[in-house]
Order: sequence, then structure tokens, then C-alpha cells
Amino acid sequence: MTSPSIVWFRDDLRLADHPALRAAMDRDAPVIAMFVLDEESPGIRPLGGAAKWWLHHSLLSLDERLRDKGARLVLRRGPAERVVHEVVAESGAGAVYWNRRYGRPEREIDAALKSSLRDQGLTVESFAGSLLHEPWTVTTGSGTHYSVFTPFWRACRALPAPRAPLPEPRELDGVARPPRSDAPGDWELLPTTPDWAGGLRDTWEPGEPAARRRLRHFLDHDLPAYDAARDAPAAGATSLLSPRLRWGELSPFTVWAEATRVEGSARFLSELGWREFAWHTLYHFPDLATKNLRPEFDAFPWPGLDPRQLDAWQHGETGIPLVDAGMRELWHTGYMHNRVRMVTASFLIKNLLIDWRLGEEWFWDTLVDADGANNAFNWQWVAGSGADAAPYFRVFNPELQAKKFDGDGEYVARWAPDAPTAPIVDLAETRKAALAAYDEVKRAGA
Ligand SMILES: Cc1cc2nc3c(=O)[nH]c(=O)nc-3n(C[C@H](O)[C@H](O)[C@H](O)COP(=O)(O)OP(=O)(O)OC[C@H]3O[C@@H](n4cnc5c(N)ncnc54)[C@H](O)[C@@H]3O)c2cc1C
Repeated sequence: MTSPSIVWFRDDLRLADHPALRAAMDRDAPVIAMFVLDEESPGIRPLGGAAKWWLHHSLLSLDERLRDKGARLVLRRGPAERVVHEVVAESGAGAVYWNRRYGRPEREIDAALKSSLRDQGLTVESFAGSLLHEPWTVTTGSGTHYSVFTPFWRACRALPAPRAPLPEPRELDGVARPPRSDAPGDWELLPTTPDWAGGLRDTWEPGEPAARRRLRHFLDHDLPAYDAARDAPAAGATSLLSPRLRWGELSPFTVWAEATRVEGSARFLSELGWREFAWHTLYHFPDLATKNLRPEFDAFPWPGLDPRQLDAWQHGETGIPLVDAGMRELWHTGYMHNRVRMVTASFLIKNLLIDWRLGEEWFWDTLVDADGANNAFNWQWVAGSGADAAPYFRVFNPELQAKKFDGDGEYVARWAPDAPTAPIVDLAETRKAALAAYDEVKRAGA
């Protein structure tokens, strides 16, 4: 009998448009589907609480789908390099397939595995499944990477169009006796004491089938008005695909192929472009979550942290209605509308003068769509320290933002009807202090 093939699922918890799964099927051998919870390998950032909640449910859904098709999901925990070797040894696998990852620690693990498994005589192949364009394929005329979005996106659009998505397999040839598997409950990914996930359960249905339904709904109902309504947080006009893309329940190729068929989708497609830009930036600048991309920002004179202010921001108790509404939406649902993410982040950095990294950490823990690139990239964008970032002197005024994008107060009424009304800081004074602090950055960069 042919030795089985392992398909190692990572940030791609789906069966449709899964090039690694397709390659395993083409090899014509029984398939072992595997997921490894790796919290131990050097440099791997442990998942935040909301992300763990999503992962738990998405794994259950993937296992159910695999069982329907004739296979099942093997769950293992530990440093990925060791665990993959163990499963190869236990199963006698002759091939291992995966879709690529782009963070530095993940790339290092994958490269080491590729070479050690190949040395043992296994077939090992990796594929492009999570980004429309591989980061090393989008380069400027002089061969460097882009630091400004518009030319980056122009260059992407000039490349061959993203490939058509692959169909999902009709059935799978699972191995008769799969390797030992943990039960998802063993990993304690769900919160228990206390169980704070009620709002997440009310808001989301993780898993590929629900992701596909959401995409269909968005394309049929909301995409035509996306351009005009995307900035209004109460409008419900955006796709809500971010956690689905983060966990790979939908591939960007599927979203791209389906959205390009709808007239007037350019703006939406360019948001997928920002996702690409963030990931490409991480690929070229692996320390995006901890280091200023523009080093002159290291000169920013962050004052000593007042933990009460950070706490008030985290829990939506700042007395600024739009900020409090956003932080409460985040706490309740694991999600926040993009416009409000910008406003709450700007308030933390430029009115409370709290280091963007502390905001990034809070979002990392509370967002269901938190990923290694988009979160840090956007925090640096708001801080002004990142790629193609908002200019440092742009300090969002949360009151004007509320007037402009939540004119009738619907969003604030939904999320913060009883929030305090006395602001913890004076917006005008703190803005002045922020601009003075940024002057030091300017001097450092001059
Ligand atoms: C401070 C801050 C932190 C953020 N953290 C994250 C994060 O951890 N994960 C995350 O996916 N997005 C993050 N974003 C980007 C953006 O807010 C979300 O992607 C968006 O709100 C998701 O809602 P949606 O799927 O309805 O978006 P849509 O408007 O429907 O956009 C479609 C898709 O495009 C991508 N996208 C949209 N805007 C951006 C953007 N600015 N940068 C990168 N990709 C984008 C997302 O994959 C999104 O699902 C952050 C933004 C800010 C300002």
C-alpha cells in the first residue's frame, strides 16, 4: 500500500481552494489531516483569548467536514517540528503538504521541517494559499519592497490575475487507522472561569460553511453599497470576513474570484489589497508587532504609563462616547468596525499618550480576527510609525468622527448607552501634548 500523505492545516481551516489538500489527493494515497497547536516553538506568539475561542469552533467544524468526506482531523499539541516528525514516524507517511505562512518564526519552522523531512526521503511541498501574491513576487523596479500602498497595489494589479480557486474535494481517502488525536476540549481554548464568550457565541458562527454563506450574503446584499456605507459603523455594510480570512475558512482567491464578478467591487478589492500589503510588510519586517517600522519613532517620549487610563480605555470608560462604544463592541463581540478601530487607536496613542504596543496587545487578546500582520500593521499606521502611515499630525477628533460617521448616534446608543459622560482627558490639551511629542520624532528623523 502507498504510504499516506499528511496535510498539515494551519491558518487555512477549509476544504475548498486548499492547494495542499489538492496535492495530497493527486498523490493518490490515503490522507492524514492534521492540526498542531504550537505554543512552544521559539518566537511563536501565543494566541489571544478571542482567537482561541474561534480556533476551537473552527477546528470542530473542519473535523466534521472531513468526516463527511471520509477522513478526520488529527489534533496534536507541542513544538511543531517535533510533533510533525512524530506523526510522520507513527504513520509511516511518505509525503507532507502545507500552505505557506509568512511570519519569521513560522517560516523558520517550516524551512527546517522541509529540509529534515526531505533528508529522510519524504516528499514535502508547500503552496500559496493565504495570500493572492507571494511577498517576494511584488517588488519595485529596483527590486526592493514597497513602502507605499498605491504603487504596491498598482504593481499587484499588473501581475497575472490571482488564480481561480480550486474546488473542494468530493470525497477523501482517509487512513484506516489515524494517528492518536487530542480532543479539542483537552486544549482548553474556551474560557471557563469566567465564561466571557457569550457575546462571541451570539455574534459568530465559525467554520467554512458559515463563512461561505456570509460571503454570499455580502456579495448579494451589501457589496453594491459598500463604497458609500463602509465608514458608518452602524450601517453593517462591511463584509465581516476578517476572522474568516484570518483563519482561512475562506481563501482570498475565493473572495477575489467571487467579488470581481460583481460590478463596483474595486474599493472592496483594494481592502483585500491592504491585507496583502500588511502581510508583505510583515514578511519584510518580521518585528512589526514590537518595533517601530520607522526607527525615528524610537525617539517618541512616551510618558510614564497611568494604568488607570489604560484600564478605562480597555473597558470603554473614557467618557468619549465613540471610543467607549468601540471598546465595548470589541469586548462583547471580538470585533470592532474599522473606522472605530482607527478612532480608538488614535485616542490611546495621541490623547492618552500610551504606547501603541499596549493597544496592539489588547486588540491581540480580544479580536477574533487578530493576526500577526494586520493588527500590528494597522496600529503602526495609526501611530504614524508604520508603512504608508497616517501623518503624525493627524489626530482624530473622536467627537467630530462621531458626528461625521455616526451622525444620528445609532452606534453609540447600541454599544455605550450608559457610558460615563465626563472625558478622562481634555481632547484639545492632549492633542497639543501629542504634537509636541511628535516634534521630537521629527527632529530624530531630520
Ligand atoms: C488599530 C487597528 C487594528 C486592526 N487589526 C486587525 C486585525 O487584527 N486583523 C484584521 O483582519 N484587520 C485588522 N484591522 C483592519 C480592519 O479594521 C479590519 O480588517 C476590518 O474592520 C474587518 O472588517 P470586515 O471584514 O467587515 O472588512 P471589510 O471592509 O469588508 O474588508 C474586507 C477585508 O479586507 C481586509 N481589510 C480591510 N481593511 C483592512 C486594513 N485596514 N488592513 C488590512 N486588511 C484590511 C480584511 O481582511 C477584511 O476582512 C485593524 C485596523 C485597525 C485600525
